[in-house]
Amino acid sequence: MRHLDTLIVGQGFGGMYMLHRARGMGLKVLAIEAGDDVGGTWYWNRYPGARCDVMSIDYCYSFSNEIMQEWTWSEQFAPQAEIWAYAKWVADKLDLRRDTQFNTRATTLTYDDARQVWRVETDRGDVFEAKYVIMATGPLSIPKGLDMPGQELFKGDIYLSGRWPQHPVDFAGKRVGLIGTGSTGVQITPVLAEQAGELVVFQRTPSFTFPMRNHTLDADYVAQIKQHYPELRAFARNTATGGVRATSTRPVFSVSVAERERLMEEAWAHSGLAFIGLFADTLVNQQANDVVADFVRRKIREVVKDPAIAEILTPRGYPIFARRPCLETNYYEAFNRDNVMLVDCINEPIVEITERGIRTSAREIALDIIIAATGYDGLTGAMTAVDVKGKEGRSLRDKWSAGARSHLGLMMEGFPNLFMIAGANGPSALANYLILNEQNADWICACIDFMRTRDHAAIEPTAAAEDSYMALLNTIASRTLMAKGNTWYTGGNIAGKPRFFPLFAGGLNKYLEMCADTAAQDYKGFEFR
Ligand code: NAP
Repeated sequence: MRHLDTLIVGQGFGGMYMLHRARGMGLKVLAIEAGDDVGGTWYWNRYPGARCDVMSIDYCYSFSNEIMQEWTWSEQFAPQAEIWAYAKWVADKLDLRRDTQFNTRATTLTYDDARQVWRVETDRGDVFEAKYVIMATGPLSIPKGLDMPGQELFKGDIYLSGRWPQHPVDFAGKRVGLIGTGSTGVQITPVLAEQAGELVVFQRTPSFTFPMRNHTLDADYVAQIKQHYPELRAFARNTATGGVRATSTRPVFSVSVAERERLMEEAWAHSGLAFIGLFADTLVNQQANDVVADFVRRKIREVVKDPAIAEILTPRGYPIFARRPCLETNYYEAFNRDNVMLVDCINEPIVEITERGIRTSAREIALDIIIAATGYDGLTGAMTAVDVKGKEGRSLRDKWSAGARSHLGLMMEGFPNLFMIAGANGPSALANYLILNEQNADWICACIDFMRTRDHAAIEPTAAAEDSYMALLNTIASRTLMAKGNTWYTGGNIAGKPRFFPLFAGGLNKYLEMCADTAAQDYKGFEFR
């Protein structure tokens, strides 16, 4: 048994910064991490084409000017290898591995009410006792995998995008089946179209997809950014999504049809995620949403030569932005190639994996390799994967049986001194995770400091504060169209998962303000023991 002040679960960007801060406060701290190195999502997701859809100048730490000045991003949207290299470089610089135990998963967390400590057990048989536990387990760390029978029969290789092996995979001359066309599948497709002998893309729900228009960053631009990093970061923290691109306050129907087209063409030419902020009402007004969705649908037909394939690739039946929009490079072009085939799993669902490949309702398709880019048990999966028992033996799985509940996405009533970083009820996927990670960790450290100076042993939100935060979250969610998709946002992608939109959709800036106000009012809505 090892006694600690603070145990951190996860060494992605949130957990890494938390470890650095906790150590700086003089806390006796240890981090545990399931992988054999730091990096979180960028450690696990090494699939071909993996790249971040947030601009690299936004998707990095802001707490250290030295780090901001010393690291130089090479591209507008950084590839996985570069982001992972950045995480490892930061870990070296801050000497984080010294206090991290790798290859270790937390399996149970049990609160000892009388002694006010958490007992943490791991899959390696460790037992830790810690006053504070910080779950920095990320929103997308439990892959959904293949939800059809027969995997064990397949004679070829199966790869999960979110558990990609460390060794290179040779696709040359191989028949590869790719299941899933979310952000991951959209990135894998064009790369494998080039590398594989044949690529069969199994698509159920088509995604709305925008050109990434990635490019290398020139030295002058980088120098300018480095000179203005602090102001850019301050600006980003004051936006709804946490990026340097401003969002518009202009509603779709406030401009003429011709002007609308001009604006959309311009945004398309810049692209990235510029489209999201082009109009103010696309997430709340279905008619406005339809205008933008129709524009994006038209663009598919301009690239894909076969009208029947273009039609299958065209997303319909859910609002644009209700699923996370994807950024692509040569995605639609891939479907013009002779070695790429598209299977429409809405009309021809996958029935099973066979010895030779994949059987759909219409045929068996022979394959050498199957890639599952089928997504994640998002937002809640990594928390409920651990058997968490709080005060009086209360189970987190029970508490969240109808969906995640917490106060500010940071703490839960009934689970004292258990904090979450980028937790399910914060802005999470709707904002820049790097800003959110830093702010959550800073908030937690300030809270622990507050407790230390006042000799408080435990903190948890009151039931009333949690209820009122969740009511606010639900009210905002009911006004957006984002809750209308069968996505990992809503749990609609996992059979049997309760359907609930757990994200705070009121904007990162508003969220940061609420957290700061709470702390400024001596943690109003929380009670101490
Ligand atoms: P995802 O968006 O949940 O997509 C999973 C895909 O698998 C969907 O197309 C889904 O279809 C399909 N699928 C699942 N089960 C299936 C089945 N039985 N038969 C046929 N199709 C099936 O997962 P993801 O692509 O991994 O992306 C998850 C999130 O990770 C993204 O939203 C994004 O936030 C993040 N991400 C970011 C980047 C980036 O920064 N560029 C890259 C990758 C991922 P249905 O929708 O019909 O279920």
